[in-house]
Amino acid sequence: MNRFKLKDYNSKDTIAAIATFPSLSALGVIRLSGKKSFSIMAKLFKPAKKKDIRRAKSYTLHYGWIVKKGNPPAIVDEVLVSLMRKPNSYTREDVIEISAHGGILVLNKILELLLKQGVRQALPGEFTYRALTSGRINLIQAEAVRDVIEAKTDQALELAQRQLRGELTGRIEKLKQELKNIFSQTEAYLNFPEDQVELSTVVLRKKLEALKNHSGKLLQESRQARILKEGLKCAICGKTNSGKSTLFNCLLKEERVITSRIAGTTRDVIEEVINIRGIPLRIYDTAGLIEPKDLLTRKALKKTREIFEGSDLIIFLVDGSRALSQDDFFLLEKIKTKTAIMVINKIDLKQKLKIHNLGLKGMVKVRLSALKGQGIKDLERAIFDTVYSKGIERQNLIFLSRYQEEFLSKASENISQALENLAAGQPIDLVNFLLKQALDDLGKLTGEVFSEEILENIFSQFCIGK
Ligand code: GDP
Repeated sequence: MNRFKLKDYNSKDTIAAIATFPSLSALGVIRLSGKKSFSIMAKLFKPAKKKDIRRAKSYTLHYGWIVKKGNPPAIVDEVLVSLMRKPNSYTREDVIEISAHGGILVLNKILELLLKQGVRQALPGEFTYRALTSGRINLIQAEAVRDVIEAKTDQALELAQRQLRGELTGRIEKLKQELKNIFSQTEAYLNFPEDQVELSTVVLRKKLEALKNHSGKLLQESRQARILKEGLKCAICGKTNSGKSTLFNCLLKEERVITSRIAGTTRDVIEEVINIRGIPLRIYDTAGLIEPKDLLTRKALKKTREIFEGSDLIIFLVDGSRALSQDDFFLLEKIKTKTAIMVINKIDLKQKLKIHNLGLKGMVKVRLSALKGQGIKDLERAIFDTVYSKGIERQNLIFLSRYQEEFLSKASENISQALENLAAGQPIDLVNFLLKQALDDLGKLTGEVFSEEILENIFSQFCIGK
């Protein structure tokens, strides 16, 4: 990926780029933006109606030809030109879109003619960058533009569209407003002691608590939306022969993995994506986390450990027809700190497993037979319930990019700390300072406070022409 510096974007040049995917297609679009768009276009475009486009109204469409000057002049392509005058355009500058034929050669020829007239080739996302700096959209929406283009599932597309319409912005702004109100109260208290501004710590505490809950809810929603978008990483683990591969197959509903009676045959980690009630679940059948005896297994073991650490959910499988062994206890210790579902497999056989007195009260348990397919629905329900906390509506989830989430987390931490300090009777100065930090964090999230590194990062991921 090409990394561009922010200074490259900060220019007033008139820019152009091919905005459609360069391939053999019926139509292709070239986009122009900047002060000289109309005057330069007038030099290349021969309208059929002989009307000078420099005087044409905004939002009008003009049929004609792109012509290369010479003796005799050569027609490069037959085109439709749409005009959008500032400030009612994507960039809030004068914008022109040329719809030409879609061939790579013809589009490049038109672009070349524009470049010869002093137009500069646009950098990735430069049109969107101008939309951002002119205030037409904010940073959240700029990212949403990219997400709309890159969306691969209906749900991801819907999320991005909602973000683009400003839904996330509205909700973050609401949080920010609440924060600002509290912050201004602490400011007034500190700055105007002579006015004897009253500040009730009890009320302040209540407000901060509400604020903490609010930011926490947004974070939780975003994490759940990420699962919808990227899938839930779920590792199936258990000792050898507990039935991991059989369960894996059962969930896939077709035999894609070879199950075996020989201990330790599932050596590689296998990943499959299945859809459980609309949640893309990326399941990994692992080789187990038990100590390996040979090199091949050792490699698989390393991978298993990585997956185990990076999982959102662990399905811990035990064999119900046997008593717990050392290996089971070993795994049990490991999953205690993770979100896990304990699956007691082989319920079709005589049960010998005893799990009381293990301190596993809090863990969700499902009994099933992977071989017979009994109880699978219960497992699916348990997975769904573990992922979705009650009281959160899936339709209205907001989604934050990783860096946005980071800033919201930081803001949330600062709010929590302010609350702790207040509760501990610390001076208001400190509370005020932490709230200011939280405000800055939210400012960075919406792009009010620009961070060069973040902007460079975001715009480098854009395609040229957007
Ligand atoms: P893994 O080593 O954990 O992947 O275990 P496998 O899926 O290879 O299963 C080990 C053995 O247990 C195989 O012979 C399976 O057919 C058997 N098995 C798996 N699940 C069940 C079950 O629910 N009931 C019974 N009776 N046998 C099972």
